[in-house]
Amino acid sequence: MNELSRIDTLKGVGEKTASLFLKIKVSTIGELLDYYPRTYDVYEDSILISEIEEGKIVTVTGAIFGRIQVSGNKNMQITSLLLKDISGTLKVIWYRMPFLRTTLSRGGMLTLRGKVTHKKNGIVMEQPEIFYPAHTYEEKKGTLQPVYSLTTGLTNNLIKKAMIQAMEIIDEDGEFLPEELRKKYQLETYEQSRRNIHFPKTKASFINARHRLVFEEFLMFVLSLRMQKEKEEKYQNQFVFHPQPLVDTFIKNLPFELTSAQKKVWNEIKKDMSSEHMMSRLVQGDVGSGKTMVAFLAMLYASLNGYQSALMAPTEVLARQHYETITKLLIEYHLPLKIQLLTGSMTAKEKRESYSKIETGSVDLIVGTHALIQEKVHYKNLALVITDEQHRFGVQQRELLAGKGSMPHILVMSATPIPRTLGIILYGDLDISIIDELPQNRLPIKNCVVDTGYRNTAYKFMAAQISQGRQCYVICPMVEESEHLEVENVTDYTELLREHFPSSIKVACLHGKMKQVEKEKLMDAFGKNEIQILVSTTVIEVGIDVPNATVMLIENAERFGLAQLHQLRGRVGRGKHQSYCIFMSAAKSKETKERLEILNKSNDGFFIASEDLRLRGPGDLFGIRQSGLMNFKLGDVFQDAQILKDASDAAQEIQQEDTRLTTEKYKKLAKYIEKNISEYFLEKTL
Ligand code: ADP
Ligand code: MG
Repeated sequence: MNELSRIDTLKGVGEKTASLFLKIKVSTIGELLDYYPRTYDVYEDSILISEIEEGKIVTVTGAIFGRIQVSGNKNMQITSLLLKDISGTLKVIWYRMPFLRTTLSRGGMLTLRGKVTHKKNGIVMEQPEIFYPAHTYEEKKGTLQPVYSLTTGLTNNLIKKAMIQAMEIIDEDGEFLPEELRKKYQLETYEQSRRNIHFPKTKASFINARHRLVFEEFLMFVLSLRMQKEKEEKYQNQFVFHPQPLVDTFIKNLPFELTSAQKKVWNEIKKDMSSEHMMSRLVQGDVGSGKTMVAFLAMLYASLNGYQSALMAPTEVLARQHYETITKLLIEYHLPLKIQLLTGSMTAKEKRESYSKIETGSVDLIVGTHALIQEKVHYKNLALVITDEQHRFGVQQRELLAGKGSMPHILVMSATPIPRTLGIILYGDLDISIIDELPQNRLPIKNCVVDTGYRNTAYKFMAAQISQGRQCYVICPMVEESEHLEVENVTDYTELLREHFPSSIKVACLHGKMKQVEKEKLMDAFGKNEIQILVSTTVIEVGIDVPNATVMLIENAERFGLAQLHQLRGRVGRGKHQSYCIFMSAAKSKETKERLEILNKSNDGFFIASEDLRLRGPGDLFGIRQSGLMNFKLGDVFQDAQILKDASDAAQEIQQEDTRLTTEKYKKLAKYIEKNISEYFLEKTL
């Protein structure tokens, strides 16, 4: 057996379990090793029975007091005992384990670890893990036990058991980083890191393992970007662009003047599109800075030159919104161009019709989701692809399109505020344009950071805004444990608001588990002010544009990263009315307040991102939700910014030594990149 062996070669993994593993995309032992824990359970010291708080998982040590009893019927036998320590006694029960009566009956001390809940007759520890005799707990004490993301039927124990076996199979010469590099950046070995990420003996060994794996992940990413950049520099521009007076007329007729930042970026794009090489450009600008307008100019320019252009959004809601905005512009400004929408949720017939219009060239502008780059789509003459918040669009997608006859110019738009130092690394394959100026007519958002005692005042404020015709967003407290709970949470909160507000105020809820069509219907209704309060999880984080919404209330703001909070806030302040953002925090700590105060003081995404980085520090591993930026498996570009910088330095050193990674020293590394490259460039969709 080796890392390439199929998962069902492990003991206890049959056909059925293997199919469950397949659901979490694990089919080989190597893939299993790459399935990192979501978090860890810590085996803490025993506490006194009198110190127990219900609802918690605790460890207690004591002696069995009195007899062990077995009750219930054949199908559900309940074994119960009383555990006694110097502070009191605790009732303990197990289901379907009658044999415990014999194994535990000899008395003596034992240690139990389990969840304590409140039952009819007081608190009970249910189904605890048993350490008998008590000193056997010593071995586990202080260790971290892996907790994996699960799927129905696949338990943590099943994964753990398989993982323990996989530990025996780790490839000893799987190491692909030269020793010199490992020494320089203090990285442990391939084998150690794989072992310790799953079963760390101490917190320190977890941190070391994670450090190596994050470094590895970033290094692969940066190296592939650099290699890509080199390759792209060779792509010749096969399109011919002529000046288009209609674009200038359009700009002149807009009800506002472009900001000078917009003008500057628009000129950069125009120049790129008619240069010798293909454009690969990122337009970075804070929410509401007018990126979409610039993108539209580029599409207009391409299409008036007789080519097709496409705009790809990360979600259907956003795609539809872009489609509607652009359609309105085309009509209002009498532009002689045809637009087509293409999304995954369209019916087969609708799709077929779109494909045919795209292929024959009867449409000029195409707006959609990832459906735009799927196999069945053939473009007549696609010259420009613009993506919105898809940071990893690039390489593979461009080549995919090239394979179908067109190698388009690429423009990536992003409102994700990343400190510039990191941006240069993360967007290594792109030229960067920055829109660092907001349109003049914007009133800055008014912010406040408050505690939960302010909630009713906040509701009153919302009601007042609604009575003036405005609308509100409420971002719901976040629940980490499960998607199911998250849904429950938003729906409950929505009910609460419905009861609180008069029935004339319509409250609706939006969450990630809803069907696409439902989400669209809702957003549509919210856009038309048929709904006044939209309660949501963070699914509305990117892009949504309802200028009439003026209040953003964020519950449990302390649980979000600052950058994410800033993104959320960007959903308001998009129109002519004064907007407000209320960060409600349940945490009392000074650090949390200080962190949130940064949002209070600044509306500058870049500044906020770098402050976030400064305050979080590397110790904060599980506390705050990851930024989720760019979908790294373990790494977080904010939290692990230092590792990212190190990996970037290492990439540069490696390439200075051996540009194409062909020498013996880097052969394995090259192979590893090749094997994993797709992970870095295919962005998951919502
Ligand atoms: P972004 O994509 O950067 O979030 P948008 O392009 O969607 O921003 O612009 C937000 C709103 O501001 C849109 O309604 C747009 O028409 C408007 N807008 C764009 N540029 C300007 C400008 N220079 N002056 C005033 N309003 C603008
Ligand atoms: Mg936008």
